[in-house]
Amino acid sequence: MDKRIYLCLAHMSGQEQKYIQEAFDTNWVVPLGPNVNGFEEDLKRFVESAPNGKTMDWAVANGKEVVALSAGTAAVHLALIALGVQAGDEVICQSFTFCASCNPIKYLGATPVFVDSEPDTWNIDPDLLEEAIKDRINKTGHKPKAIIVVYLYGMPAKIDEIMDIARKYDIPLVEDAAEGFGSRYRGRVCGTFGEYGVLSFNGNKMITTSGGGALICPDKEAKQNVMFYATQARESYPYYQHEHIGYNYRMSNICAGIGRGQMTVLEEHINHHKQLATLYTQLFAKIPGIAFHGCPSEDIDSNYWLNTITISPDLHVKGEEKAYAEKVQGAVGGAAGVTHSAQSTHTECEPNRNVEAIRMALDAAGIESRPLWKPMHLQPVYKGCPSYVNGISESLFKQGLCLPSGPYVSEKDAARIVTVIKQHIEP
Ligand SMILES: *Cc1c(COP(=O)(O)O)cnc(C)c1O
Repeated sequence: MDKRIYLCLAHMSGQEQKYIQEAFDTNWVVPLGPNVNGFEEDLKRFVESAPNGKTMDWAVANGKEVVALSAGTAAVHLALIALGVQAGDEVICQSFTFCASCNPIKYLGATPVFVDSEPDTWNIDPDLLEEAIKDRINKTGHKPKAIIVVYLYGMPAKIDEIMDIARKYDIPLVEDAAEGFGSRYRGRVCGTFGEYGVLSFNGNKMITTSGGGALICPDKEAKQNVMFYATQARESYPYYQHEHIGYNYRMSNICAGIGRGQMTVLEEHINHHKQLATLYTQLFAKIPGIAFHGCPSEDIDSNYWLNTITISPDLHVKGEEKAYAEKVQGAVGGAAGVTHSAQSTHTECEPNRNVEAIRMALDAAGIESRPLWKPMHLQPVYKGCPSYVNGISESLFKQGLCLPSGPYVSEKDAARIVTVIKQHIEP
């Protein structure tokens, strides 16, 4: 049996331990310190860089600042706090995403307004976004407080169009680039276009700090404000004085040490993900009924965090009649942290049988794959939230599959993955 191939596993550079050792040697085992500062500087340098490693022109004029945090979810939460989102407000969020993009809206007692995707990048549809804004103003008399755009699987959104609408209605934009670290739009790093940009360094992301995230802020003042809320909102008195509710969201100096080591292999990781994308593109080009999701234009430069395909509903796959016959035990693919067992074999909206059959066939061959994110407007927990829907994300969810993409996936592995899929297609 070949080794099991996972979706995206953390991969160390070997430099991490040096920075962690330094933290111990200098007794900085706390949520601040030299690694936190060093990691933030590394991140700032990277997000301002052009594809050739030089600093971009816009960065010279208006440099961004970066705050290292305990998670990407914390970064979303703090971005919304920094933008003044309060209970009763509405915040627009791309529906096609992981729950961490919108859960913080609920943490604040605000209401998410979900907007569907366009078919080119799979991210928020600019036309539908404008329709949603107009309709919310009509219905509530208020503008939504913020717009959250997501770079799904690393693919940049149609940023120019989205920024135009955000400017037109004067609504701040938050970019959830948790999956899109190192993706670029017209050469510029994703997460630097909007008011705030979210990064994640969870174990399965482009780089990892074991768990962690960062918020890209517009300037030093905004960074100070975010740090204030990330460290329990302490006022500068000799004693503990609190005039706001804060959070314990700062990154630890140990995690930041891992991050500094990871920054030395970031470009290498991105290149590896992109090479796999090129290979998958070639291999799937020969299989009718399966489409690889590639960059739709020259402006859009995905990091291909996860490589994804869609499977035509007309394609017949061996074993599809047995799909969903049994309840899944534990998390699909063995992902950590699923402690609620499934209550039923079906839900109201699930991937097509042929997709599930391919997932099961890959799993049996020791290959992890996963359906696309189930859109938030279809999630029971968000039932009743306003949503502006065109059917795109629901249709993608039913047809899509994420394939192994990390640094541990070799070109030989990719070829084997495509072969297993091919072998299960009925003529
Ligand atoms: C992973 C992820 C997050 C949250 O990041 P954590 O570091 O896991 O909290 C947010 N948004 C999206 C789209 C993600 O994929």
